[in-house]
Amino acid sequence: MIMKGKKGVILGVANNKSIAYGIAKACAEQGAQIAFTYLNDSLKKRVEPIAAEFGSSDYVYPCDVSKPEEIKALKESLEKDMGKIDFIVHSIAFAPKEGLSGRFYDISKEAFDIAMDISVYSLIEVVRELKPLLSENSSVLTLTYYGGAKYIPNYNLMGIAKAALEMTTKYLAEDLGKDGTRVNAISAGPIKTLAAAGIGDFRFMLKWNEAHSPLKKNVTTSEVGNSGMYLLSDLSSAVTGEIHYVDCGYNLMGMPAVNFDEN
Ligand code: NAD
Repeated sequence: MIMKGKKGVILGVANNKSIAYGIAKACAEQGAQIAFTYLNDSLKKRVEPIAAEFGSSDYVYPCDVSKPEEIKALKESLEKDMGKIDFIVHSIAFAPKEGLSGRFYDISKEAFDIAMDISVYSLIEVVRELKPLLSENSSVLTLTYYGGAKYIPNYNLMGIAKAALEMTTKYLAEDLGKDGTRVNAISAGPIKTLAAAGIGDFRFMLKWNEAHSPLKKNVTTSEVGNSGMYLLSDLSSAVTGEIHYVDCGYNLMGMPAVNFDEN
């Protein structure tokens, strides 16, 4: 039981297709005690049964990260119900639909600000507010995508947010290292989730990755979950500031291995 005795909070479960669900499952199977948050009342109904599945019915809290008072309230609740925690999972992103297709240069400042606030600044704010609760050997994990490192069609505004999130991961890693907290990101390959449904031509992305990744398949939430569990556990005690690709190797491809003579 790699996570036995570890307690943590997972932000970003919407349903059992969520990447955060895969991480929760892997951590719970290894003995972790997990607190869950939900965005709003309609998602509360989805998150509560998931929390029950992992023995966490007493640890379910509201947290819309665009509302600073909800992050503060989360800290108070966690402190009262759990005391110190060993890990935080930030599996949250949002961009208005206009930022996920069409011409990139058309993005409004309003959409830009929303995407950066919810998908990037929230990591800093959550970590800062929950920092007094973090144990000496704690781990923070966020989720990113290759579209933050290279151009991906339609990923547009979220690509800019992920680039900022990846550097936020590194700056936080340096800042919190002296306090014994590690900060890493998983760059997951494409997975059909609620958030992914907002990205234009997402089905094509899935097909493309499957055809061109070295492992010739798409990654699953449980595979991302297992890698996430490793980064949250003491197995990765010397790993911080990493952008860890869990994408069936897709990111190593400079060019697809297509033989034009056969086509
Ligand atoms: P998801 O829809 O299951 O999860 C996104 C979560 O963000 C939801 O739980 C939603 O409630 C939450 N959220 C949105 N706005 C919020 C707010 N204001 N306050 C609190 N929570 C809010 O989809 P997912 O694919 O599991 O996404 C999780 C993370 O993984 C995101 O950061 C996403 O960018 C990243 N990611 C996804 C993929 C993919 O292909 N699905 C690939 C790489 C990275």
